Amino acid sequence: MKLRSDQMVREIVIVGGGTAGWMTAAALSRKLAGTRATIKLVESAEIGTVGVGEATLPQIRDFNRMLDIDEAELMARTSATIKLGIEFRDWGRTGDQYIHPFGVHGETIGPADFHHYWSKENATADAGDFGRYCLAISAARKQHFDLPPDNPTSPLQAYSYAFQFDASLYAAFLADYAKQRGVERIEGKVVTVGTDGESGFIQSVTLESGQLIPGELFIDCSGFRGLLIEHEMETGFDDWSDYLPCNRAFAIPCKIVDPVGPYTRSTARAAGWQWRIPLQHRIGNGLVYCNRYMSDQDAVDMLTTSLEGEAIAEPKQLFFKTGKRKKLWNRNCVAIGLSGGFLEPLESTSIDLIQSGILSLTALFPEKRCASSDVDEYNRLMDLEFDRVRDFLMLHYVLNEREEPFWRDMRNIARPDSLSEKIEAFKRRAIVPQYDHGLFQPASWLSVFIGQNLLPETYDPRVDAMSDDDRTGHLARIRSTVESNVGRMPEHLAFIRKYRASFAGAQAGQA
Ligand code: FAD
Repeated sequence: MKLRSDQMVREIVIVGGGTAGWMTAAALSRKLAGTRATIKLVESAEIGTVGVGEATLPQIRDFNRMLDIDEAELMARTSATIKLGIEFRDWGRTGDQYIHPFGVHGETIGPADFHHYWSKENATADAGDFGRYCLAISAARKQHFDLPPDNPTSPLQAYSYAFQFDASLYAAFLADYAKQRGVERIEGKVVTVGTDGESGFIQSVTLESGQLIPGELFIDCSGFRGLLIEHEMETGFDDWSDYLPCNRAFAIPCKIVDPVGPYTRSTARAAGWQWRIPLQHRIGNGLVYCNRYMSDQDAVDMLTTSLEGEAIAEPKQLFFKTGKRKKLWNRNCVAIGLSGGFLEPLESTSIDLIQSGILSLTALFPEKRCASSDVDEYNRLMDLEFDRVRDFLMLHYVLNEREEPFWRDMRNIARPDSLSEKIEAFKRRAIVPQYDHGLFQPASWLSVFIGQNLLPETYDPRVDAMSDDDRTGHLARIRSTVESNVGRMPEHLAFIRKYRASFAGAQAGQA
């Protein structure tokens, strides 16, 4: 970040102390260390936080690394388990199961990509489940885990991982971090916002107590209410309910019954889907549904009667509308977190979108006048992020083969051209989407295409240059290498115990 003299923003006010607020405060306290910038965060215990958001993506490890956070400490402090991917049950036909992993399938065995060889083998013989060629999937299924090697000698050893954690503990952990680095936390409810009549820039927020907090840059982390970006600035909202119509959820934690594996689960239900996110001390469960197809009572009954262990809280209902603000940065206000938009939690993308917002903001860290070139660039990058997540989420719905009215309608839902083109390219020629900016790389698209039974009509003709015997031999060798690598890994829970102990040991050493 290039900071230039007194033209740069010095007074930053963050409104909201949920995951978004404290991630932003922690990152800015780190990035602006040594400058004259001050950071204040206002939060209201009376209003509270949304209280969900337990599954993450591997990119969160980059965020933690940027803050110099020790992973073993993080796991100990947030009751975290490891996440190697998401298991989707019943999303194609009832009884189907596949995992979208944080790793690749197969390795290079010829000039074409691996899945073309698998496709040919699959058409002529039994190539076996595509997941058997992926170490992250095989490890998840066996409930094994170990840290990936620093220098993998083969793509078969390359995978990544994320965490399933207690989001309120993560926010508390980052709050400690940020406060130690000078962030001032102010308790109170913002009741009025002062703006400059000419520029429309926010100049201050005032609390119920009467305290006035002036600032030059305001970061709206106030959750769904979008206190600054919408209530005050009337930025407008791109409503994507026609693409992603689920609009409600119930969430409830339960006790753990069996040893938990290193993955999140999503099970398709009559008018939505149910999540299962195992932590060290409990399992987070929730049902996401569309109220045009399922009543609240049916939803809560469906969720509470399907818990594997005793419930440890009352079900909590949440309401949302999928979409995003027309501008995530408007004048001197940047919306990060739920205030900026929400695309339902199917692929655990919200915390990652928070992270993207923070990284783009620090890269474009503004002058006081918030130059329109910086604002436009930020909005362009974030729009791209949201569009790509939207298309990937929709893919799961449009490829379903279920028979309930909700699912039949989802199959035929109007879809953006950007998604239709990707589906068509894969169906006709096994071409997988690839782009530089935004979430979800080829391995992700591939796992959902194949996992939900969209098999390509043809494969890359270069595959024919390899004899059938050679191809079958390569595939058998890859399956066996994956299996033996997974066999050598410790069990997931044994790994967590050892990892946690390494943090406790380091602490004892320091005492
Ligand atoms: P909130 O948690 O709502 O925080 C808002 C803050 O603003 C609070 O501190 C509040 O006190 C403060 N505030 C509001 N108004 C005022 C005011 N007037 N004055 C002062 N303070 C104020 N994300 C994932 O990455 N993975 C998941 O698995 C996942 N699951 C989800 C499931 C559901 C059903 C939902 C709805 C969301 C899920 N999310 C998930 C999203 C995730 O919960 C959020 O992205 C994340 O918690 C960030 O929320 P936030 O900080 O933006 O908002």
